[in-house]
Parts: sequence; structure tokens; C-alpha cells
Amino acid sequence: MATKKILIVPGDGIGQEVTAAGKKVLDKIAAKFGHTFQYDEALIGHAAIEATGQALPDVSLEKMRASDAVLFGAVGHPKYDNDPSAKVRPEQGLLKMRKELGLYANLRPIKLFDELLEASSIKPEILKGADILFFRELTGDIYFGEKGRKNNGDTAFDIAEYSRYEVERIARKAFEAARGRRKKLCSVDKANVLETSRLWRETVQQVAKEYPDVELEHQFVDSMAMLLIKDPRRYDVVVTANLFGDILTDEASQIAGSMGMLASASIGDGTGVYEPIHGSAHDITGKGIANPLASILSAALLLDISFGLKAEAAAIINAVDQVLKAGYRTKDIANATTPANMILNTEAMGQEVVNRL
Ligand code: NAD
Repeated sequence: MATKKILIVPGDGIGQEVTAAGKKVLDKIAAKFGHTFQYDEALIGHAAIEATGQALPDVSLEKMRASDAVLFGAVGHPKYDNDPSAKVRPEQGLLKMRKELGLYANLRPIKLFDELLEASSIKPEILKGADILFFRELTGDIYFGEKGRKNNGDTAFDIAEYSRYEVERIARKAFEAARGRRKKLCSVDKANVLETSRLWRETVQQVAKEYPDVELEHQFVDSMAMLLIKDPRRYDVVVTANLFGDILTDEASQIAGSMGMLASASIGDGTGVYEPIHGSAHDITGKGIANPLASILSAALLLDISFGLKAEAAAIINAVDQVLKAGYRTKDIANATTPANMILNTEAMGQEVVNRL
């Protein structure tokens, strides 16, 4: 029986709606397995800017550091998307959280529930059995380098930077994970063009010497974008830089049927943060139709990775599987043949998972 402090950080838009479902599932797990989860809440993103003027106030950061794990929603608001001149932006909260908590590895398991084979835009015969674990580097690259304007604002630059130790630590995490799976690692870069990628490849090859039992392949990011949907079953663990990982994992979300199905874990040396890969989805905010399963599956990752509660995590994944087998869908994973009474709103979908637990 464990006693743990979980910080709920809903953020903006559908982040609020889906983390509420994730928390309900955690509550049910605590009751069923006899654990005590103590919750607190903190602000980030637009919600935090409105309340404090900062995208990640110090008090939120302190609460994150003091908790055993964070269940996070999403940040973003239409106000900023169309105003590139805004100085304080919701995404700054996200980047600061990752940097301050040292969350250098973002794990994104991409696995299709069999019941959703038809929900993907990729042919079932290509998809069936695909099971990929992405490791996206999270605290380096073009997102964190120097950025600015010159020539009277007519020229802009973002500097991409990587240091050897940053590549080493994520490569090691990816090799370790591959060891526990099908022992295949694909490292994705653009070493034919970018110097950061050449350092990336050189370093991954160096680390590979410690893992002779893991088969390593390299792919250029452009060809990987194609191979991922042409032959997804070929991949086991994939490791890549921040920018490439951002794009490839959104593409890979189609393997899992919808953005609303994909969970992620951001880990480093301290508190881990667990979140859906999707954003705040302004287009559906407030309609109650967001798919909560990515947040619920993020709660499962939280239990597994931060607390080592593997049976509890498996129980959640099994409950999600049962709900999908029973035919329940949210709008994003429904298709033309789904009966109207089987299409659930966010709350009802969360409740179905709780019922199965
Ligand atoms: P998005 O992920 O919010 O939405 C993309 C599309 O997927 C939308 O059509 C949306 O309705 C749909 N979708 C996403 N999650 C869903 C769910 N759970 N259920 C059903 N449908 C879902 O990306 P976007 O529209 O490009 O960005 C919206 C905002 O989110 C922007 O402000 C952006 O900056 C922010 N954003 C935040 C994060 C984050 O906090 N981690 C990530 C990506 C984007």
C-alpha cells in the first residue's frame, strides 16, 4: 500500500476536461488497491497568465517539485496562436516546466487497441500489431537555443544546439527500454545535413557499444516520416531529437487512431510529468466531447513509471480495452457504423473506465 502525492495540473482548454477523468480513475485505483493518493492542484499556461501574469508561477513549480508525480493536461489559448507578438505565452509554461524539472526524456508508447483498427486512416493490414515506444529528447534542440530577429526584424533565427551528455542520457534510456522489449532501436536524425545530428549519431553509436544485444539502425527524419506509416511494425523503440520527435509522434498518433488516445511520460531525475500528447484543442473545448483516454492512459503510465505500480497500470489499460471492446467510443474514434447511443461524452467515457475497474 502506497501513500503518494499527486499534483493535478489541468492547464487550459480540454486539459481541464480530460484530467478530471484521469483523476477519477486514479481515485478508483486507490480505493481498489488500498493506496492513498493525496492531491493538490496548480496553475500553468493561459490559466496561470490570467491569474498571475506568469505562464508557470513559482508556486506551481514548487508544488511540482514537492509532489511524487504530476498529471498534466495541456496549455494553449487561441488568443496567442494568432498573436506572435505576445511576450508572455502559455507554451512558455510548458517549456519552463520541462527545463526546471529536468524532464529530458519524453516517452510515447504508440500501440493500437485492436478495436480501433478501423479508426485509423492507415489500412488495418499495415497497422495490426504495431507497437512502438518513442523517446523524444525534451530539453534541447531548436526549442531552447537562442532565438531572435535581425535586419530590422526581417530576418529571424532559432539556434539548434545539442551537447554530447544530452544525447548520451536519452540514448541510454532508449537502449535500456529496447533491452526490455524486442531489442531493436532506431535512432532518427538528419546527419546528412545538420551538425547537431552528426553529434547525435556519433554519440548514439558510442553508447551502442554498451548494448551489443540491441540491434541499432539509423534513419534520416524525412525517410522515417515515410517509413513510419508504410511499415510501422518494423519499429520497436525509436529515439530522436526534440523537433523531429514532436512531428513524428503526431504523425504516429494516426497509428493509434487518434490524438485522443496517446499518453506520454516526461521523465528526468526528479518528479515525472504525465500528459496526453494532444494540446488544448480550442475547436472542441467546452463541448464535453474530448476523448479522456489519453489522460487516463497517462495516469496508467504515472502509476507504472513513477510509482512502480505495474498491476494497477495494467488494470487501467485492461479497463480501457474492455470499454472499447464493449463498443463505446468518443466522437474522434467513432466511425459511420458506430451507433449513436455508443458515442459517449468525456465524462461518460471516463465513468465507463471507472466502472470496468
Ligand atoms: P491539438 O492537439 O489541441 O488538436 C489537434 C486536433 O486534434 C484538433 O482537431 C482537436 O480537436 C483534436 N483533438 C486533440 N485532442 C483531442 C481529444 N482528446 N479528443 C478529441 N479530439 C482531440 O493541437 P492544435 O489544435 O494544433 O493546438 C491547439 C492548442 O494547443 C494551441 O494553442 C497549441 O499551442 C496547444 N498545444 C499544446 C500542447 C501541450 O500542452 N502539450 C501540445 C500541442 C498543442
